[in-house]
Amino acid sequence: MGTTLGPSFDLAVTKREILDYCLRSMEYGLNFNTQGNISLRVPGVEDRFLITPTDLEYDRMRAEDIVLVNGDSEVIEGELQPSSEVTVHMAVYRRRADVNAIVHTEPVYSNVWGVVGEPIRGTLVNMLNYSKGDVPIMPFAISNSTEFGERMCDVLGGVNAVVWANHGLLTVGDNLRDAFKTSVAVESAAKVQTFARAITDSPIVLEWDKLGLDHAL
Ligand SMILES: [Zn+2]
Repeated sequence: MGTTLGPSFDLAVTKREILDYCLRSMEYGLNFNTQGNISLRVPGVEDRFLITPTDLEYDRMRAEDIVLVNGDSEVIEGELQPSSEVTVHMAVYRRRADVNAIVHTEPVYSNVWGVVGEPIRGTLVNMLNYSKGDVPIMPFAISNSTEFGERMCDVLGGVNAVVWANHGLLTVGDNLRDAFKTSVAVESAAKVQTFARAITDSPIVLEWDKLGLDHAL
């Protein structure tokens, strides 16, 4: 039995769901070592968030290792410390009321475009469907502060993904499944862009605003 925060919300079940997506992100090759983190806004409860702990490999993590924090990044429940990027996650939740889940990974092809310094563009319609636009690049900075989070939100704007140059990818969503699917879709498009640009300087890309899509394909 887990802690119950609301009439229909079971913390233990949600921690297992987060762990499941952590393991999937390894399966998809989006992370290595102890990199990456995932968080979730606890539904129906003010100022409570779940986030993966710092410095623990996903395949060694137990659901109960996932930490409950408040919006000031203070631990409410949990034996481990939250991810070192917890303040960045909290900056996003403050700025984007539409965001209920955040996935940070460090996938190779997204990182290629981070070091090139060019946005990941709509080589795949499926990426735009989730990202809702080109994925911008935030210039390198150390990512463990609220200040970094605020600046990242400026770069992110209203889209659902941003690359941190020389570091990794952050995606957001209404729910964890969407945020995770966005990570996978962005990395796929980044890979296509990498190969396409090796062949031509001007691959055919799509623009979200012109697609007229408002639902998942
Ligand atoms: Zn990272």
